[in-house]
Parts: sequence; C-alpha cells; structure tokens
Amino acid sequence: MAHFSKQIPFRVGDRVKLELDWKHRYNAMRLHSALHLLAGVFDSKFKERAVAGVVKSNSAYLVFKHELLDNIINRAIEQANEDIKNGLEIQTYWDKNRKGFRWCKINGYPPIPCGGLHVKNAGEIGKIDLAGKELEQGKQKITISLIVTRQ
Ligand SMILES: [Zn+2]
Repeated sequence: MAHFSKQIPFRVGDRVKLELDWKHRYNAMRLHSALHLLAGVFDSKFKERAVAGVVKSNSAYLVFKHELLDNIINRAIEQANEDIKNGLEIQTYWDKNRKGFRWCKINGYPPIPCGGLHVKNAGEIGKIDLAGKELEQGKQKITISLIVTRQ
C-alpha cells in the first residue's frame, strides 16, 4: 500500500496521523482475495499453477507459463464465482515453523504463501468478470475485474 504525506519530510520519532482510504483498501483486498481464489481453482481443479499475480487499482491478473484453453479459463472463473456465492471462508496465518512466513487459506483449496490483506469471506469479493486474456511471450495473462454487488 502506498503512503502519501502532506508534511514531508518527517523524522524518526515524529508523531504522524494516518488516514486510511478504506474504499481503495477494501477494493484491493477484494481483488487480492479474488486472485487467490482463482489461483486455487486453477491449481486444484485444472492442475494449472499461476506463476505470478498482480493487483492493480481496478483489475488484477494472473500469469501462467503457457497458453490456457478458453474453456478452462471460463470454467475456472465459473467455479470461483460459485465459491463466492457459497461464501467460502478466507484465513491468513503465520507459519509455525518458518518465522515471518505467512499463508492464506481458502476453505477447500491448498494454502498459498501470502503477505497481503484479504477479505474474511469470499462472499465479499463480488462477481469475478473476465476482463482480458493475452499471450505475452508465450505466457498466458488473465485479467479480471469485479462486479461489486455490495459496498
Ligand atoms: Zn496474497
């Protein structure tokens, strides 16, 4: 998350007041959770593992090592939207054996290493919409946006 300041510079020990842009933050949490859910679906139902995930301001994308069939992309998004409807629980927790290592686990899917912020329940994500699919140097990029049904 970016921090913007009206009074720079400030020094170590200075007292600063922070204001959270909740609308922006919550949107990023939803997109981030959506990527984890979708990556979980691709991995466990279609044996396709994403190699990268990026959250932008109004969209997010996953990258795969090779091209994916349209049918698989569509079915994965359908499944993720079904999971959203079913309100799967999303948990984050620290690894007991590896210090500083954190996991995100969505009910029914394998945990994924994660340092980011999530919504607590998939139902908060909204509906996942396929916003684009591109091939970049043989790698499949799948961009999603969210149709938000509640604020
Ligand atoms: Zn994450």
